Amino acid sequence: MSVIEMRQIKREYRMDTKKSKRKQSEAVIVRALRGLDFSAEEGEFVSVMGPSGSGKSTLMNILGCLDKPTSGTYMLDGVETSTSSANTFAYIRNRKIGFVFQSFNLLSRTTALENVELPLFYRQKDKNDGKQRINLSRKEKAIAALREVGLENRMDHFPSQLSGGQQQRVAIARAMVNDPAFILADEPTGNLDTGMTLEIMGLFQQLNDMGKTIIMVTHEPELAAYTKRIITLRDGNLVSDCPVTERGNALSDLAKWKKDHLLLAEDI
Ligand code: ADP
Repeated sequence: MSVIEMRQIKREYRMDTKKSKRKQSEAVIVRALRGLDFSAEEGEFVSVMGPSGSGKSTLMNILGCLDKPTSGTYMLDGVETSTSSANTFAYIRNRKIGFVFQSFNLLSRTTALENVELPLFYRQKDKNDGKQRINLSRKEKAIAALREVGLENRMDHFPSQLSGGQQQRVAIARAMVNDPAFILADEPTGNLDTGMTLEIMGLFQQLNDMGKTIIMVTHEPELAAYTKRIITLRDGNLVSDCPVTERGNALSDLAKWKKDHLLLAEDI
């Protein structure tokens, strides 16, 4: 079964413009997505590329159930989202999607462990399980997610005590803790240097090898080369959808980069 199945997705923004006091306002329709078909199966790792204004953010908002299309259908993990009620829509967003942002979006006065536990508090509201059992499993789940991203030794650190790459790891653990249908990453390495970028791309590759489905927006072809499939948008249309034939290995590129970096440092 497809995790994501979008058919003929259109998103139009209506903008009212009033040129002068006397004139009546005129509506301008911006067609941000013009009938897009896109599906992804479990275990895929897809890059979303395209120039500025091509519709990537609009697509991400719809994929992330932050916005609904003007027309078209979007089936997420077997559930049709476009006709769902506001409550169901929010439930799907909280439970089925793990968000990773460029700016990490961690709570600063909260430890790594508590940040990762956070989505499980929201989850508790939808369920009537016994409180004690939930408290126990909530912590265990958060610890397991931090272990998966290699941060079990940093659980009690606050974000300010972690490097950018480590903060993004915490954010990835938080995205995974609910075992979502897919991870939606919006330029996840945009704020990181080369070494940390390779580290995060390596982590995504490892998680994908373990079966996680990942959709990532990126401007950089070198990063898209670490994924398995690239879709490209232009003027609100999906203009290409290609498998990555020569896939890079981010962790071996990281090892090479570290070696070169060390040599450079020794030269100085
Ligand atoms: P990208 O993320 O690729 O830069 P966007 O999805 O942000 O592209 O935008 C696609 C098109 O839709 C652009 O022409 C943009 O100006 C327009 N657009 C995006 N959001 C809105 C909005 N809230 N109101 C009106 N127009 C919008």
